[in-house]
Amino acid sequence: MESFMDNFRERSEVEREWLQELFVFVRDNLYPVLGPSTGSVSPEQLSLAMIRRVERAVGSSCARSLPLSYRLISVSELVTWQRTPCCSNLTWSTAQHREWVREAEQALPNHEALPRANLLLIGCLSDGCDPERSCDGAWRVRDATGTVHCELLSPSPLWLGLPVLFPCWNYIPQPAPGKDQEVEERGYLELVGCPLPLTSDPEMTFNPAGVNLKRSVGVREAAGLIQHRVRGLRVKVYGEVSGVYPRLNIAGKSFFCLRLREGRHTLPLLVTEPCCLWWQQCLCVGGSVCVSGLRVCALQGWSGNRVLCATSQSSLTLLPDTLIQDLSDTPTLDMHTPDLDTDTVGSDPPLSDCSSTECPLPERERQGAGPDPSPSLRPRLSKAISYKGVLTSVLSAAAGLYVIDGKVGLCLAYQPLQRRGLRPGAEIELHDVHFLYRPSPHFHPSMLCVCLRSSLRVTSFSRLGSEVDRPSDAPLPSLLLERNLGVSQYLWLCHCCRALRDRLVPRWVKEERVYVVARRLLECVVTSEKGGGRGGRRDIYREMLQEPHHCPLTEYSVSSPVCEYVSVSDCVSVMENECWTSLSLASLLPASGSSLTRAELNPSVAWSVGLSLGQDSQPRPLLLVGVLELPGTHTLRLRDQTGAVTCVAVETGDDDSGGQRAANNTAWIGCLVCVQRFTMVMERFLQSEFPSYRHLDQDSYITHRHCRVYIQLCLNDLQILSPSAAMASLLLRENSRTTQGGERETERDRGEMREKRGEEREETREKGGEEREERREKGGEAREERREKGGEEREEREERREKGGEAREERREKGGEEREERREKEGEEREERTDYVSERKKRSSEEDRIEEREGGAKRARQNHTENETCSKPGGGASLPGDWPCISVVMCVEGKEGVAWRNEGIACEGEEAGLSLCFSVRADLIGQIQRWERDPRNCPLQERETDGQTRTVELLFVRSSVRWFPLIQAGSFYRLIAPNTQDPSVLIGCRVAGRSGVELHTNPSLLVRSDWRIHTLTHPLLTTPYSQSISQKVMSVAEVLDCSGVDLVSFHGVISQRITLQRGTTTHTPTQRDVEAGLSVRLTVCVEPRGRSLQVYLDLSRTPYPPGLVPGNTVLLTSFQRRLSRVGGVYCRSVPVSCLTIMALGKTDTQSCDSPPPMILLGVWALAGAEQCVVGRVRGHVVCVLYLQLQWTCSLCGSIYTQERCTRPQPPCNSTSAVFQAEAKAAVEDGSGEAHIWFSCPVISGLLGLAMPQWEGLQRSLRVRGHLRVYTRGRSLVCDVEAEDPLLQYLSCVCSSSTVCRPLTLICTLHTRSHTPAARREDSAQLKRFTRGDREFVTRMPPPLQLTCTHILEERERD
Ligand SMILES: [Zn+2]
Ligand SMILES: [Zn+2]
Repeated sequence: MESFMDNFRERSEVEREWLQELFVFVRDNLYPVLGPSTGSVSPEQLSLAMIRRVERAVGSSCARSLPLSYRLISVSELVTWQRTPCCSNLTWSTAQHREWVREAEQALPNHEALPRANLLLIGCLSDGCDPERSCDGAWRVRDATGTVHCELLSPSPLWLGLPVLFPCWNYIPQPAPGKDQEVEERGYLELVGCPLPLTSDPEMTFNPAGVNLKRSVGVREAAGLIQHRVRGLRVKVYGEVSGVYPRLNIAGKSFFCLRLREGRHTLPLLVTEPCCLWWQQCLCVGGSVCVSGLRVCALQGWSGNRVLCATSQSSLTLLPDTLIQDLSDTPTLDMHTPDLDTDTVGSDPPLSDCSSTECPLPERERQGAGPDPSPSLRPRLSKAISYKGVLTSVLSAAAGLYVIDGKVGLCLAYQPLQRRGLRPGAEIELHDVHFLYRPSPHFHPSMLCVCLRSSLRVTSFSRLGSEVDRPSDAPLPSLLLERNLGVSQYLWLCHCCRALRDRLVPRWVKEERVYVVARRLLECVVTSEKGGGRGGRRDIYREMLQEPHHCPLTEYSVSSPVCEYVSVSDCVSVMENECWTSLSLASLLPASGSSLTRAELNPSVAWSVGLSLGQDSQPRPLLLVGVLELPGTHTLRLRDQTGAVTCVAVETGDDDSGGQRAANNTAWIGCLVCVQRFTMVMERFLQSEFPSYRHLDQDSYITHRHCRVYIQLCLNDLQILSPSAAMASLLLRENSRTTQGGERETERDRGEMREKRGEEREETREKGGEEREERREKGGEAREERREKGGEEREEREERREKGGEAREERREKGGEEREERREKEGEEREERTDYVSERKKRSSEEDRIEEREGGAKRARQNHTENETCSKPGGGASLPGDWPCISVVMCVEGKEGVAWRNEGIACEGEEAGLSLCFSVRADLIGQIQRWERDPRNCPLQERETDGQTRTVELLFVRSSVRWFPLIQAGSFYRLIAPNTQDPSVLIGCRVAGRSGVELHTNPSLLVRSDWRIHTLTHPLLTTPYSQSISQKVMSVAEVLDCSGVDLVSFHGVISQRITLQRGTTTHTPTQRDVEAGLSVRLTVCVEPRGRSLQVYLDLSRTPYPPGLVPGNTVLLTSFQRRLSRVGGVYCRSVPVSCLTIMALGKTDTQSCDSPPPMILLGVWALAGAEQCVVGRVRGHVVCVLYLQLQWTCSLCGSIYTQERCTRPQPPCNSTSAVFQAEAKAAVEDGSGEAHIWFSCPVISGLLGLAMPQWEGLQRSLRVRGHLRVYTRGRSLVCDVEAEDPLLQYLSCVCSSSTVCRPLTLICTLHTRSHTPAARREDSAQLKRFTRGDREFVTRMPPPLQLTCTHILEERERD
C-alpha cells in the first residue's frame, strides 16, 4: 500500500484518500479472483492499471483528473442494495448525459430514462463454469464477493477471465419470484461498452494475420465429411453464422444449436459440451466463425441424421467479415437476408425496412377474396422473415409478449423465455421469425413469433427504466408446452388472463390464481370446440434442424378459440345496443296491422322482446365468466367487477327425461362459472302516439322508450371454474356416488378430487405429527373423515371472523371462494414445482388406486363419518373455534309471489311502509338440531327427520327476499340460524292479528337476514315427505274445463304477451314508471295451436318479473279463475299469485312449420277444442252473410269521409284514417256448416280481388266512408240506398262464382265454440224452414264459429 501511495505524493488529500480506497478495494475484491491467464500481477500493479484506465476513460481534457464522485461498488453490494434500475457511465460529462436522457425519452415518451449512479464496477468476466456450480453458459461478472449475471452485445471469447473495468453499464433488478431467491438472481447487468482490461492490455481487437485456418474446412466440405463417421475424427469448420438457436434445457442437460452457411450449403452444429455453452452469447447471425475440435455424432432424437458436435477440445474463433470471402469463392450475401429455406430463397423481404404492418402478399390476396365463411377452420401458412426493430412495450414478459416499433406484436413463448435485456427501448434483431397475420383479434394484426429455429439478439440495450412485470403470467408458457397450444389459442389464453385479472381480481379471484382460472376456461372452451390443442409430441430436433423447416408456428388458424370472453358490463351493453338495432316496429303488428286505429296500434308496439343466443353473437360467440349471487333483490345475478346481469335460471331435472324445472339449488351461489350457452333477452318498453301504421317510421311519435336486458340460462350448461364450498362438497358426494356405480370419473371430478386432496394435505400439516401417525394406521378410512372435519373446521374459522348483519351471507360465500382458492392454489403450486406430466400421472394412478380400494364402502363410511362429526350437540370435544348454529329441515309446499306489502314488521331504523317480501308455506320436518358448525348441504341425517312435522308460514322480508329465485315448492332445504343454540329461534309464533283477529292459521316464522338456506338435493327417499305434493298443478285445458274452483295453479307455455293500455301519464315517465303499474296479458297454452288461456297480470305491486317471454314455460300458482261476460274463462293475478319460469323456450323453433291438421266441419262441431283449435278446412263458400267496409278515423274510431273525421261533438281534426273490413261467410264441406269470419288482410282473397282492384275499391269508398251489406233472403241489401253502384258491384261480386267457390282455409275456433255443441246449454236453437207451402220448425245446433286466418287457394293446397 505504501509503495502504491508513493506514486501519488503530489495529489491532494481527497484524491489520496480516494486512491487509498481504490487500492484496498482492488486488493480485497478483485485480486483474489484472478485466474492463471492473467499471469502474475500484484495488487499494486492492478491498482495502477486501473487508475490509468480510469483516467483515460474520464477524458484527456484535464490529463490527470480522477472521478472522485464515483464510488467503487462490489458485486454483492450492488445486488443487495440496488433495488431500482440504474446506469453508470464513467466517460460522460453531465451535458452528454442530459442529451442521452433527452434522446431516450423522446423515442418513447411514456418512459423515463434510467437514473445515473456514480458507481465504478470492476471484476472478471466468467463463462458460468464456476467450480461450485454446473456450467449454464451464462456470462457473469465476478469479484471476491460474488457473481452477477450480465448481458453483452457482442462479447469476445478473449475477454473471459480477465480483470476488467466496466466503463458503462445498466443494472436491472429482477422481481423476486420467491423468498429463497439466490442473490445472483436479484438482478443483472447490461454491459454497454467494451470492458477495459486491467492487465497486460492484450490486443482486444482482432488481428487477421493471427487466425490459423490451417486444416480447416468450409461448410460444403464438412457436409460431405459427416456422411461417413470416422472414429476419432475431429473437424475444424469455418463459415458464416446463419442461425443461433435458443439454449434449451432438457432433462437437466443444456445445449444449443447454431447453423453455419457457405453459399447455399448450411450445416448445423450442436453444442452440448457445458464448457462451450457460453459461445451462444458471442455468436451473431451474419458473423463469421471458425470452430475446431468437432466430432461427428448421430443424433438419437433425429433419426438418421448426423451433426457436428462440440467437444471439450473445441474452441471458437470469431473471424472478421472479410476473411471468408478471401478464403472461398462464394458471392457475398446480404447479411440481413439469410435464405435458409431453399424454397423461399429470394422471397424474403429485406430485414430492417420490412414494412410489417402491411401483410405480405399471399395473406393480402387471401383477404381480398371476400368474407371467409369459416376463417377459423382453414389454417394459414406463416412466413419466415428477418426483422430489426425497437421494443416499444412489454405486454407481459412472463408470457413472452412484446410490441416492436409500436405496431408489430412479438411472441416469444415458443422459445424458452430469456427475459434479460428485453426492455422497452431495446433494439432487437430477429432472424427466421414467423410472420403471422391476424392470428388473434386481441393482439396486433401483425405478429412475429419466434420458434426454436429463430435467432433473437439484443443489439442495443434500452436506456429506459422499466416497470416490474407481473409474475402471475409465468405459468402460461408451460401450459403452452403441456397442451401444445396453437398460437391463436395461446394469445387467447393470454388475453383471458389479462381480462380475468381486470374483471375478477381481487374480489373473487386472487392474483396468483388467475392462471388456474384461465386454464380451466381454456379447457371449457377447447373441449367444447373440437380439435383444440394439437396433441401429439413435438420433436424439437426436427423443429430445429430439419430442412425444410416445420414447427407449430408454420401453420396457424385464425381466431381459435372463436369465442370472445366479454365482461358482464360489455355483455349488457351489447344487449342494450342490439335491443334497438334489431327492432322493426312493423314486424310487431299483426297481419291486419294496416287497419289498426291508434288505440289498437300503440299497445301492440308497447312491449316487444328480442332474443338472441350468446353463441350466435357476431362477430364471435360470446363467453361470460362471473360469480352467481343472490343480491338483495328477488333475482339471481351473474356478476364480475364490471357489473351484474340478471339471470333467469332453470335446471335439468333429476329424472333422465331432460325436462327443465325451476332452479332450486343454493349450492350454485358463490360459484365462479363460465357461461357459453345462454340467451340474451332484450325487452323493449315503448310509449308512443303513432296515429296509424303509416307513421311507424317516424321516431318523433315515440314519447318514451327503455329496455330491460337479462340473460336466460340452464344451470346444467354452466361450467364451474371455481366451486362454492357447498358445491365442492356436493360434487364430491356425487362423484363418490358415480364411483360406486362403477363409472369412471370425469376429468372435472378428478380436478375436484385433487382439490379436496390438497385441502386434506393442508389439514394434515396443520394438525401435526400425531394425525399423520393415525393416518398411517387407519389408511384410507381416516382420510375421508379428516377431510370432512378439515373442511368444516376451516369454515368455522372463517365464520368466526365474520360479524353479524346482512353482509355476512355474502362474505361467507366469498369466504368459501377464498377457501377454495387457497386449496387450489396449494395444489397448483405443488404442480408447478414438479414436472407437471409425471405429477399428473402419479395423481391419477393414485386416484385409481383409491377408487379400487375404497370402492363401495366409501359412501357408507362417509355417511358414518358425517354422523359422527355432526351429532355432537354441544359436545365436549368441540374445538375452541367451533361456531354453533341450529337448523331445521323443511319441505316447501307453496310459495307466494314477491311483492311490496305493508307487513307491519318493526324493523330497526327503518320507517314503516311497503317492503319487498314473500311468504312460503313449508313443512318443518323433525326436531330442531344443534350443530357445532354449519352443516351446510351435507346429506340429511336420520336424526333430523325424527319427530313431528308441523306446517309454518315462513316470511321473507327485505334482504331475505334474495332467496326467492331458488326456493321452489316440493324441494327440501336446511334452514340454518347461525350464532345460536337456542331452538326457540326456529319455532314459529302465531301472529296475533290486529284487533284480535287471527291472521294466519299456521304459525309464522320471520326469516332473518343472516339465516342461511341450503338445498338438500338428495333427501332421504324413504321418508314420506318426498311424496308430499303441494297444491295441485293443472294443465291449461283443466283450468278451462273445471268449474267451481276459485284459485288455480297451472303451467303452460307463453304464446303471446300484450301490454294493456294504461292511463296516460302527464309527466315524463322514468324507467320505474314504465314498468310500475304495468298490466300485462299473457296467452298461455300447452302446444302452439292448442287451447289457450288468457292471464291478466297486475304488476303494480310487484317488482318486475323477468322471463315472461313467449316460448318460456311458466308455472302460475294461486291465480283467480274467472268467467267473462260471454262465458269465456280467463285468469287474473291476485296478491298471493306467484309466477315461476319452469323451462326456457328454444329460440330457434319455428312453431308454424307444419300446416295445421285437415278437419271436417261436422267432426269439429262435435269435438270442439278437444280436436284442435286451429285447423284446415276444405269447403265451399255458400254465401256471404255480412260485409262491412269502412274508413275509420285512426284517432277516435269514427267514420272518416273524404278528408275529415265525421265526429260531431267534440269535433275531431284527425288527418289519418285506416281502412277496415270485416266479412262473415257461410261455408260447408258436406259434413257440416260453419260461419267463418274474415278480416282485412284475407277479405280481398275471399272476394277474389287482385290488389289494384282492392285498392280501387278502397278509394271509391272514400266519399261515403262506410258501407255495410248483409244477406236478406237471396240478395245482399244495404242500410241506405239500394241504387248505390258500389253496392250493386259488391252484391254482384258476392253472389258470383268468384266468391262462392271451393276454398281451403286455415281457421281458428272461436272461444265460444271450444266446448262441443252437444255439451253447450244453449246448444240447439229453433230454426224454421219453408218447403213449398209447408213450414218446418226444427232444433238445429248453432253453426261452428270460426275465424279465417289464411286462405289457401286450390292450387296452394298442400
Ligand atoms: Zn418455426
Ligand atoms: Zn276522429
